Amino acid sequence: MYRGAMVEHFEEGALIGVLTPEPIDRVLDYRAPEGGCWLGAFVEVPLGPRRVLGVVWGPGQGDYDAAKVRAAGRVLDAAPMREELRVFLEKAGAYTLTPLSQMLRLATRAPGLSDPPSMRKIYRLGQGTPARMTDARARVIATLVDYGGLGFTLKELADMAGVTSSVVKGLAAQGAVEEVDTPRDAPFLPLDPDLPGKPLTEDQVAAADALRTGIRSGRYATTLLKGVTGSGKTEVYLEAVAECLRQGRQALVLLPEIALTSEFLTRVQDRFGAKPAEWHSGVTMTERRRAWRMVGQGGAQLVVGARSALFLPFRDLGLIVVDEEHDTSYKQEEGALYNARDMAVLRASLNDAQVVLASATPSLETWANAQAGKYARLDLKARFGTAVLPDMRAIDMRTEDLPGQAWISPSLQSEVGKRLQAGEQSLLFLNRRGYAPVTLCRACGAQVGCDHCDARMVEHRFQKRLVCHQCGETKPLPETCPACGVTGKMAAVGPGVERIAEEAARVFPDARLAILSSDLFGSARALKAQIEEIASGETDIIIGTQLVAKGHNFPRLTLVGVIDADLGLQGSDLRAAERTFQLMRQVSGRAGRAEAPGLALLQTFQPEHPVIRAILSGDEEGFWRAEAAEREAAGMPPYGRLAGIIISAEDAAAAFDLGTRLARSDGPIRDIGGMVYGPAPAPIARVRGRHRVRLLVKAPKGAAVQSAIARWISPIRLSAKLRLSVDIDPQSF
Ligand code: ADP
Ligand code: ZN
Repeated sequence: MYRGAMVEHFEEGALIGVLTPEPIDRVLDYRAPEGGCWLGAFVEVPLGPRRVLGVVWGPGQGDYDAAKVRAAGRVLDAAPMREELRVFLEKAGAYTLTPLSQMLRLATRAPGLSDPPSMRKIYRLGQGTPARMTDARARVIATLVDYGGLGFTLKELADMAGVTSSVVKGLAAQGAVEEVDTPRDAPFLPLDPDLPGKPLTEDQVAAADALRTGIRSGRYATTLLKGVTGSGKTEVYLEAVAECLRQGRQALVLLPEIALTSEFLTRVQDRFGAKPAEWHSGVTMTERRRAWRMVGQGGAQLVVGARSALFLPFRDLGLIVVDEEHDTSYKQEEGALYNARDMAVLRASLNDAQVVLASATPSLETWANAQAGKYARLDLKARFGTAVLPDMRAIDMRTEDLPGQAWISPSLQSEVGKRLQAGEQSLLFLNRRGYAPVTLCRACGAQVGCDHCDARMVEHRFQKRLVCHQCGETKPLPETCPACGVTGKMAAVGPGVERIAEEAARVFPDARLAILSSDLFGSARALKAQIEEIASGETDIIIGTQLVAKGHNFPRLTLVGVIDADLGLQGSDLRAAERTFQLMRQVSGRAGRAEAPGLALLQTFQPEHPVIRAILSGDEEGFWRAEAAEREAAGMPPYGRLAGIIISAEDAAAAFDLGTRLARSDGPIRDIGGMVYGPAPAPIARVRGRHRVRLLVKAPKGAAVQSAIARWISPIRLSAKLRLSVDIDPQSF
């Protein structure tokens, strides 16, 4: 729609409107700088005593005293922001009720945006002949010839040729390699979509064909690519990426977890001969700057990244893949509250691009959109090769003979024992970080809570501290009960992964154990090393949290034991069933990917629970239909609309007061046939010392919820102590 739109130019001195990422929610008037500027240009503008970054958003409004309008400063060295991205920010802001300036902040996270262009040295093939040709030297020359005269940094070239940098330097001294200064932000190595991919199975070919046809149409569409773990979804969507690159357009692959990127990078390298650009919090400033610029100039064909990559200034984005689309981490829970999956659909629709939502266990929203025909749906039915889905069984914990403070049942122990004998791996899964979720005093029963939040402190034995999982506050384990003063009676209650690891070490003293839990790895690199170690078979038993449920390939893993399958079913969250179903199926899918068949055992106290039964029977469509019917009857998403209004203050009463006032003035919500519930404590009721109160707006599906909420809350003047944020389509309800 906005693809390839014309760009307007403003003459020097013309009145222009500039949007800044500063917290002023309006476009300000300036005069176009010396030499004029393009619509969308990044400029520096005076704001009070400061100079700030801004984007030329349109012609000026002219509602200031013309004599007082100031001139914009210099135009920055970056491609103007395209209309497609500007419209995307406006629409995404309108949908999530986020101020436009805050949306712009998401799109200007480019380090060094206002720096002048800088140079760096690259090395390419020279005309000289080396005096003496060694093996190492020959490899350097061969690499350069291979890449048809492209230049590389010293480190890149040395790495590619497998030599030390002194070898390259030596060649440079003799003129066989040439040292050249080029702009620092060099294009990424070209990806070749026509390198041969893996031969696909019949199912995979059909799915890849459908996706390729979509890409070639040059129109917007969203497709759900559903297939069990290991069915080859990644292989298939890489074919869509290939087609997109052939069309000369860019592609973006979103992953829910940075830890998954390195495996994905390798697969891209195998398929296309080079690595894509990366965009997530683990990338260095220099690389981020390069990625941001190259995405804008077309020097990056494929980006793999976290949800924030959605706001990059693509030159012509033709495909967005959202892998593991059901993953809750796609929802940004602070600042602008957006769901990257939904925003991907919006952005694609504005640029005639395609979206692929890949998952083994799609969200109910996506499943329903496919049922309704809004999204296309492709199914990969079988696992690749001889790998079959694991057999799934429940272990009825009511009949297992276990002492107190032990969680690995005799039945599970015996299966793990068999795997140890056979030299195969087992995974013990518990979705709970730390050692014990509760620390209490055996004298008075008091539990240790966080001083700032409404949460219990969780013991982390490796860190030797109690940690609040909500705000990150830590404190030492108390010897003495803070409530009653008795010493030596503090006890850990319940299991976390660290405690399961301790138990596993006791039960299987000769096994090699590894714990995978996000808090135990200081860096993405350490985590990657651990994952590689496991994949290479140097581990017998993996003890892990949610982190392992996401897409890693452990070929020797044949047994998954879920320590507490009931964990997610407690509590009142309406999504509990959906989440448990997804998580249990994901984690079970880890077993038996290669030749060895897998087994998944779910320890449960309620084997007759409908969700547990659905998981075991594998009747997915039946499960979704039942869930959907329940939601529809209750008018809940995706069959009705929900929005949360979160009010926070240090003083709980002040937050409740405002909540009550709002609830009483609910006219605009009732006008659209909606209802206001609350105020009630928010799902996370206290964070960092602030009390949070939530109002829940429920409205019929087609209702104009955003504009009603805007009318409803706009008369409110917030005192400095109160904060209010709107959460459209909240994750928990
Ligand atoms: P998913 O994304 O559905 O979990 P993957 O694409 O990761 O599945 O495939 C699972 C494993 O099977 C990977 O190791 C992949 O390389 C392999 N695989 C899938 N399809 C093929 C194929 N057609 N030829 C060779 N290997 C394949
Ligand atoms: Zn806390």
